[in-house]
Amino acid sequence: MRIVLLGPPGAGKGTQAKILSKDFNIPHISTGDIFRTNIKMQTPLGELAKRYIDAGKLVPDNVTLDIVHDRLRQEDCAVGFIMDGFPRTIIQAKMFDEMLKELNAKVDIVINITASDNLLVKRLSGRRMCQCGKTYHLINNPPKREGICDVCNSPLYIRDDDKEETVKERLVTYHKQTCPLIDYYTEGKLIQNFDGEKTIEETTREILDVLKSRA
Ligand code: ADP
Ligand code: AMP
Repeated sequence: MRIVLLGPPGAGKGTQAKILSKDFNIPHISTGDIFRTNIKMQTPLGELAKRYIDAGKLVPDNVTLDIVHDRLRQEDCAVGFIMDGFPRTIIQAKMFDEMLKELNAKVDIVINITASDNLLVKRLSGRRMCQCGKTYHLINNPPKREGICDVCNSPLYIRDDDKEETVKERLVTYHKQTCPLIDYYTEGKLIQNFDGEKTIEETTREILDVLKSRA
């Protein structure tokens, strides 16, 4: 199954993508994670991406598209994938369709997770990350021991772009550049909307019900 997860920052895309990736045994591809890994490794791509990410802006389409183009050609994507945070612009969506066409494939479903801006700000200010990829929330999804990852015992950290001023800018970017994708995928009859204000478990259940009815 080829799944796109759409939604504003903080809606719960990464949280749901990790669960679905395990459940369906298909890779979770997060362009944000790819950029953050490159920033950590201090690659030229990371250096470029950081300038945009820290400003709450999108990394240029050509850069993002090159990354996805290469990732899609890796063997594990043959069985499907969950795209988390890509596409984020109409150009990316159109080019993504072209890329998939070259591989004789297409997007099967777009899972659009929605939440109000007020809630998103609360979600992102309470988000805590671990280097192993696990994500927590101080109130909604806390680790068993404060500040420590349940899985690998590493100290949790706050994402640089989760500070309040950057979050506001990211929401503006989302409304301007990514929201139009809702119409794009509605026209293609691919979209399924989910209320991201429900609990993590409820949202997972609702998504799984839809996916399993189509599998
Ligand atoms: P996204 O990938 O869309 O930016 P995340 O999956 O990282 O969002 O979730 C943002 C924050 O909200 C995280 O701290 C996560 O633990 C928490 N979270 C995710 N989904 C829910 C939910 N349904 N209810 C409450 N908190 C949630
Ligand atoms: P995320 O981890 O999805 O919240 O993404 C973090 C940041 O990475 C975003 O605010 C963007 O700056 C950048 N980014 C991630 N995915 C994309 C994309 N598809 N297009 C452009 N920029 C992206």
